[in-house]
Amino acid sequence: MVKVVICGTIGLDTIKTPFGEVKDALGGSATYACLAASLFSETGIVSIAGKDLPSPHIMLFKKKNINMDGISYAEKNFRWSGEYTFDMNEAKTLKTDLNALLEFKAELPENYKKEKYLFLANIDPELQLKVLDQSNEPLFTMMDTMNFWITSKKEQVKQVMKRVHTVLLNEGEARQLFEIVNLIAAGKKALELGPRFVIIKKGEHGALLFTRKSIFNAPSYPLEIINDPTGCGDSFAGALIGYLARSGNVNEETIRKAVIYGSVVASFTAEDFSINRLKNIGKEDIEQRYKEFEQLRNF
Ligand code: AMP
Repeated sequence: MVKVVICGTIGLDTIKTPFGEVKDALGGSATYACLAASLFSETGIVSIAGKDLPSPHIMLFKKKNINMDGISYAEKNFRWSGEYTFDMNEAKTLKTDLNALLEFKAELPENYKKEKYLFLANIDPELQLKVLDQSNEPLFTMMDTMNFWITSKKEQVKQVMKRVHTVLLNEGEARQLFEIVNLIAAGKKALELGPRFVIIKKGEHGALLFTRKSIFNAPSYPLEIINDPTGCGDSFAGALIGYLARSGNVNEETIRKAVIYGSVVASFTAEDFSINRLKNIGKEDIEQRYKEFEQLRNF
């Protein structure tokens, strides 16, 4: 049975960082998020793939037991290309070819509609709203977005924020959305739209979790090898919701732990290009690094 439903993109990414480059590698917001969530809970994907998506990529979803009832197909796959300079915190988008996404209907399979944990990963906010309309009052809903959608569809992004329990933003997106430099003020502005939790990710500097009563300042893992940060935000989110679904409880204590599990899994993602590190980690790797996180804050 699927516990976590994730709607987002399956991408073919061309990425350049100071440490190397890859062409048409597997990526996409739903890909990273599902691989991360499936380390904790049964996960189902809602996305669209192109007929040009190499079959080993689809086989990987199968191998990781990710339910694929929600995948539809079009001619050409979504493609994104981006570049990082020595500031690895934010990608510069070089090209976005929406391709299959232009035909995506984002229909939830019947067996997904009652699932309790729903993540609207980075995708067109109008599709995120469509998914919310079809779902049956999930216990926990979370959304992510990016500058591409904030620039083109800001109002729709805010509509989604008003309807979910948790909003995820990175620092650049938070500033762009509210036209505010200070992140604490931006987090509070996001809470005013209605979500119970707001998380602002600060790349290699950790994450801030806002509730109406508190702010939790989560560290990031002191990684020495960062080859490619693509997908860190998505794998952070996937691990976070996967852990919450496994714990069966959403409260301040479990979401703080979930933020740390998210940071743990994101730190693995950054170690190699595309999904190359993420696809090879297991439960022991995660628990080991979680313990190291506890040591980081032990004083
Ligand atoms: P992040 O976790 O923010 O690094 O997300 C990286 C992934 O986002 C890449 O694998 C891309 O395929 C995907 N992506 C890039 N642009 C978009 C977009 N406009 N909508 C949805 N997904 C995107």
